[in-house]
Amino acid sequence: MTFVIDRGCCKDAACIPVCPVQCIRPRPEDPDFTTAEQLYIDPAVCIDCGVCMNECPVDAINSEWDLPDGLEDYLDINAGYFEANPITKSEPPKPVRRELDAAHLALNVAIVGSGPAACYAAAELARISNVKVSVFDRLPTPFGLVRSGVAPDHSKTKRVAERFNAVLGLPNVRCFFNVEVGNDVSIEELLEHHHAVLWAGGADDDRSLGIPGEDLAGCHSGREFVAWYNGHPDHANHRFQLDGERVVVIGNGNVALDVARILAQPVDMLVKTDIALHSIDALTRSNVVDVVVAARRGPEHAAYTTGELLALDRIERVALLAQADEVGGAPTDPRSNDEHRAAAVAAAAVRSPAEEDRTITLRYGLSPVSINGTDAVESVTFSRGNGELETIATSLVLRAVGYRGRAVAGLPFDEVAGTFPHRGGSIYDPQSGEDVAGLYCTGWIKRGANGMIGSNKVDAVETVESILTDLASGRLPDPIHDLEHLQRLLAERQPDVVDKAGWARIDKSERRLGREAGRNRTKFVSTADLLASSRL
Ligand code: SF4
Repeated sequence: MTFVIDRGCCKDAACIPVCPVQCIRPRPEDPDFTTAEQLYIDPAVCIDCGVCMNECPVDAINSEWDLPDGLEDYLDINAGYFEANPITKSEPPKPVRRELDAAHLALNVAIVGSGPAACYAAAELARISNVKVSVFDRLPTPFGLVRSGVAPDHSKTKRVAERFNAVLGLPNVRCFFNVEVGNDVSIEELLEHHHAVLWAGGADDDRSLGIPGEDLAGCHSGREFVAWYNGHPDHANHRFQLDGERVVVIGNGNVALDVARILAQPVDMLVKTDIALHSIDALTRSNVVDVVVAARRGPEHAAYTTGELLALDRIERVALLAQADEVGGAPTDPRSNDEHRAAAVAAAAVRSPAEEDRTITLRYGLSPVSINGTDAVESVTFSRGNGELETIATSLVLRAVGYRGRAVAGLPFDEVAGTFPHRGGSIYDPQSGEDVAGLYCTGWIKRGANGMIGSNKVDAVETVESILTDLASGRLPDPIHDLEHLQRLLAERQPDVVDKAGWARIDKSERRLGREAGRNRTKFVSTADLLASSRL
């Protein structure tokens, strides 16, 4: 018997060091760790001890005999990885974390952002003795995209927030939520109170298509739609045109598949999740019966993960379709589960939907040329590569072609990549080549908007090592003021700072409201309601 990792894997890799026979791959130090869709267990080596299961923050590890319905393919997918990548040598010993050396008795680090990148960095720092961490977020709530990006029907993935909550609860971690760095407090002021500032603010801008019509009413980014259904306070009042029968989603990553799934699946499958109540209302009234997901290239180049594709293929009352003339390309990706992706798309190309089914149609080889309409979106025109144009009628277009980091006033920024220029997480000025003293980055603003939640852990380890190296070499002067001084300063400027206790009250209220309604959680979606709840 073996254990099996399923599509929920976040690549946190916490399971790897605990496995007594070291049969989970790829490891963070392996060359394919960054590109692998998930981690896998070698069934030929696994001794069925179950230890890894307890470590997984998102419950993505199952006993072979207990594989939930719909995940049976993962037995094969796990084994398939090792056919292509057999384990040849034993795991090297894990490096022991460095402690602060005797010359440096303390280290205070401000982390800007509280999403996965920030929480992994806080976890890495907070386990070192004499380190204090201050976490800042402009929202009254923590966890970034775990709260406002992960789809509500991926509740197992959202469980990683429980691990992050434990990190924020550590005695050497302080929380300053509802505090905007750059508005309520400057980076310079943070440096007066900390040895280092670690920017983990993510990528909250969108890549655009660069075609006419993107500014028409009815054309939105997938990011906005995701934030809307997840109850992000900045997006709760958005309105999306759901009275037409067709939505066109442009993109071929997991966000494109997420929004297609939320739009197409029957709303009764969502009511028990933590999806925002306003979204349930709107989706209940929706007339959408067909979601077209349009990708520039063929399915063999798709950026979505196999797991998300297979999940899309198994929604009740929704038929996944494709066009036979668009799915012929040979797989080019050496990932072991490539054949499962190809098989799912091939099956979609020959499927006939039942009359009552809603449909999600995967289209390939379509490059968007223009979004058309007078006052609002009426259609999208695509080029099919051979010079042919195809126009698809719709009143709602969602662009899901990637997130992008935003520049921060006073910090160097790579406009092309949408990231901070950095060396090992240490931000530098590309003009002078010099490090910007005391400033570091991690997560999407460091490596670009890619990877799984757990990919941020590897990033965080690297950046924390850079901070410790700089501290040891005397490049991080002691702060001018202590943290109590910062607390007083913030209290003067922002009367509604939400600390750990305030967040705990919000969390408790949201869970209680959810429980009373038979849901995972009912989120407050306005800043005013969140702040009121934080004071109860
Ligand atoms: Fe390793 Fe035990 Fe998990 Fe198998 S069940 S992968 S042996 S920790």
